[in-house]
Amino acid sequence: MHDVTAVDEKTTNYSTTVWLALLVCVFASLMLFMVFSLGKSIDDNSIERDILHFQDESSSYTINDIKALPSTSWTINEHQNFGLTKKPQWLRIEFDGEDFDRLVEIDYAMLDKVDIWLFDTSLNPLQYYATGDKLPFKQRPILHDKFLFTLPKRENATVLFLRVQSNGPVKAPLKIWSKPDFISYISTHRLFMGLFFGYMIAMGLINLFIFVTTRTLIYATYAGYVFAFALLIASLHGIGFRFIWPKNIWMQEHSVVIFAFMMMSFVLLFSSKILELKKYHQRFYVAFKVLIVVYVGCTIASFILPYAMMVKLLLILFLFSIPVVLIVTISLASSGSSIAKYFSVAWGILLFSGLAASADNFHWVELPLDSSYLLMIGATTETLLLALAMATNFNDRRQLAKHAHAEAQENEQKAILMQDELIQLQEQAQINLEQEVQARTVEFEEALAKLSSINTDLQNMNELDALTGVMNRQYFDKVYAQECARSRRHRQPLAVAMLDIDHFKKVNDSYGHQCGDDCLVAFCTALSELIKRPGDTLARLGGEEFVILLPNTSIDGASGLLEACRVAIEKLRVSSGEYNISFTVSIGLSSKVIGCDGDRDELLSNADKLLYAAKNAGRNCIKSGSF
Ligand code: GH3
Ligand code: MG
Ligand code: MG
Repeated sequence: MHDVTAVDEKTTNYSTTVWLALLVCVFASLMLFMVFSLGKSIDDNSIERDILHFQDESSSYTINDIKALPSTSWTINEHQNFGLTKKPQWLRIEFDGEDFDRLVEIDYAMLDKVDIWLFDTSLNPLQYYATGDKLPFKQRPILHDKFLFTLPKRENATVLFLRVQSNGPVKAPLKIWSKPDFISYISTHRLFMGLFFGYMIAMGLINLFIFVTTRTLIYATYAGYVFAFALLIASLHGIGFRFIWPKNIWMQEHSVVIFAFMMMSFVLLFSSKILELKKYHQRFYVAFKVLIVVYVGCTIASFILPYAMMVKLLLILFLFSIPVVLIVTISLASSGSSIAKYFSVAWGILLFSGLAASADNFHWVELPLDSSYLLMIGATTETLLLALAMATNFNDRRQLAKHAHAEAQENEQKAILMQDELIQLQEQAQINLEQEVQARTVEFEEALAKLSSINTDLQNMNELDALTGVMNRQYFDKVYAQECARSRRHRQPLAVAMLDIDHFKKVNDSYGHQCGDDCLVAFCTALSELIKRPGDTLARLGGEEFVILLPNTSIDGASGLLEACRVAIEKLRVSSGEYNISFTVSIGLSSKVIGCDGDRDELLSNADKLLYAAKNAGRNCIKSGSF
């Protein structure tokens, strides 16, 4: 599912790239075509003449000195490119009658001082023009971006002397136009310029608007770069001076360096941001940062320091930083960054056009087009490619955000599922736990019941006589103490009977100990059937001696019961093994309402004494008495 989307995105990206690249090509070819046609019209109208040159080394020559110069002092100069020099440059051209009413253009806008003298062949003055950047724009003989003036309407030859001087690079490429040609040239030139500035302003504004709405700094840096570049070109072509700062001579002097430094600051800032150097390429980031600081510093310095100095600095920095930028972008492009590829191409084109323009300027090559336009094409193409890089970057970020969003959603879904699972597990665990607890509770209750029954058994075992199953002596003592207390409290008589089997030794001796035991058991069973009242107790005191405790029973009531016991034993026949055994019992019975502590022992000993009395009276009888 994801893979298919990725492939789709790749295809979309690829086709977008192809479309954009096509757009760049169409745009660049359109510009090139216009420039070629411009160059052609210039070439067609350039009239070959010898232009003589003289450099005033002492900067002191007047027009009269120049007029008086011997012809040997002049040299033929082909390209009127004098480089960075402050020395006045003199040119001398002779026009013949054919040049009547023609326009002469110095195709270079950045000249501080331009003086033109026109003489007839006898060197009588015909006309003088003083112009240049040091004068307000309005004072130009013809209000034109560059320097333009007319030759006088003469059918005879005319001699022209031109003196140019400037703080920056000095050039005075001369073009001689017929008026119709000039009109045709200038209309194409204007269209070209209009296209260029329209394009740059549109790019700048769009990005500025995007910056204002999104607050993403990258768009501001790009807009800054485009505007600075447009202003630089406007300065170089004299358009700034003509339309933007026509009265500001200081601005005209400093504009080129200010905007050039500014443009570089912005483009480096933009590059550093869009290539995400800070994040991925720390070393390049540092290099860019240093360059940015230098360029921003130079921009500020351009407002203060002399133009001549700053222009030299600008050229040096350009020479140094453009290769740095190219190396960085190429190395990034070779490591796979698609944005860096656009960058390399963009900078490559600018560098190429810059180099081509310089080579043409220094006349190492003869280009069939105007080199100043070449730089503009380079700039436009670069601007377009950088916009392309930005669009790609924007798209990359959008895709990343989309992926991140999808991933987040997926994770959220997973989290919800896991939560559900957890809840289910918890519920299951709860159920299990409850079941476990129930099971354990049952087990526990069972164990408790067992324990309690064991306890009861234990207690019973403690209270019962092991052989006969009737109460033992300890239990009797306890019950006896309780019944004594009750008798005392309720003032009711307590009857105690002592019982001793007669001649039991003989039974043992005659039938064996086991038979004796059987007899004891049968004796107790027989008595238990008679003593049924709750509270009545039969206990074995030891051997063949027993006691019967009858609470709330008078001696008469007790006598009846015990007589029944005696008779029952008399009648009892115990069959044990092969024997059928019979025996009798003697009983001492006493009863008393317990009044003091001493009565307790006395009641017992009295019953004991009466038992002996019964023995002595011949056994198998009851002796009773209360006291
Ligand atoms: P009498 O009481 O009539 O004077 O004569 P007697 O033989 O019963 O007297 P005595 O108290 O001297 O003897 C008690 C006999 O009871 C002694 C013993 O052989 C027998 N005897 C005591 N305890 C047990 C018992 O747990 N099992 C059996 N088989 N015999 C016992
Ligand atoms: Mg005895
Ligand atoms: Mg006995």
